Amino acid sequence: MKVFITSQSLVEHLSNKTRPLGMVPTMGALHHGHLSLVKRAVKENQSVLISIFINPTQFDDKKDLERYPVNIHADLCLIKEISEKVLVYVPKVDDIYGNMVESKSFDLGGLDEVMEGEKRSGHFQGVATVVTHFLKTFSPDHAYFGEKDFQQLLIIEHVVQSLKLQTKIIGCPIIRESNGLAMSSRNSLLSDDQRKLASKLFEVLQFAKSKAKKIPYGTLKNMVAGLFKKHHELTLDYFKIVDPKTLKEIHLEETVNRGRGFIAAHLGKIRLIDNLDMS
Ligand code: AMP
Repeated sequence: MKVFITSQSLVEHLSNKTRPLGMVPTMGALHHGHLSLVKRAVKENQSVLISIFINPTQFDDKKDLERYPVNIHADLCLIKEISEKVLVYVPKVDDIYGNMVESKSFDLGGLDEVMEGEKRSGHFQGVATVVTHFLKTFSPDHAYFGEKDFQQLLIIEHVVQSLKLQTKIIGCPIIRESNGLAMSSRNSLLSDDQRKLASKLFEVLQFAKSKAKKIPYGTLKNMVAGLFKKHHELTLDYFKIVDPKTLKEIHLEETVNRGRGFIAAHLGKIRLIDNLDMS
């Protein structure tokens, strides 16, 4: 394992010998979800580059940025256990942004106008800014992203296509706790009781999947909203079933044949998201 603080030292290290190169961008506080991406990248590439960078421009909420968990030492130990052929890039903000810490403006094909994009202003422009910076600077052959952030994955695929970048984007399945809770760095900020309650998101998605082909989507949406009324600490932000390519919501009177369910909820100060294929 080699750790790099600057992109310049990392670029100097890269050569034909480190190709094919797989990249796994992360914000650290690593868990088994991240590690599943790393393991896949290790299998499919000569070398793997993991970035650990909490990207300020993708946070619309300053408090969320301030409390985002950081644990570099533990992260490096977990990475080291997986493979020695891993390069870790742990930059400071100025290595990426210089002294202009702001997003660039990308055509995101309208995919950023719904769900997380609608709720978190500028979030996906920030994500696109940092991810395209990585892809242009290091030119990985493959880059791995989790379906946990399904909307992010679609947006990155869109940007890579529209900018004609050469990196192949690879989506990886969601890794869950034994109670179904999708693993997330922010889960470390939850108490044990909150973690139990947080597993309701996946329960609700499974419930929706079991009903989606039988009842109109509008009725199902109301039923899901009703399920959240029982839990005062857990408040529903949105539940939507959308076309998995365009993210357009399906019609309320339709029953679902093909679609993906997305859910977001607040639990105390933490915002949780999850999604599930409904077909
Ligand atoms: P983050 O550190 O939250 O920015 O996540 C880095 C990458 O790991 C993103 O591509 C996420 O979608 C992915 N990821 C996070 N949690 C999970 C999970 N539970 N299962 C699979 N991938 C995940």
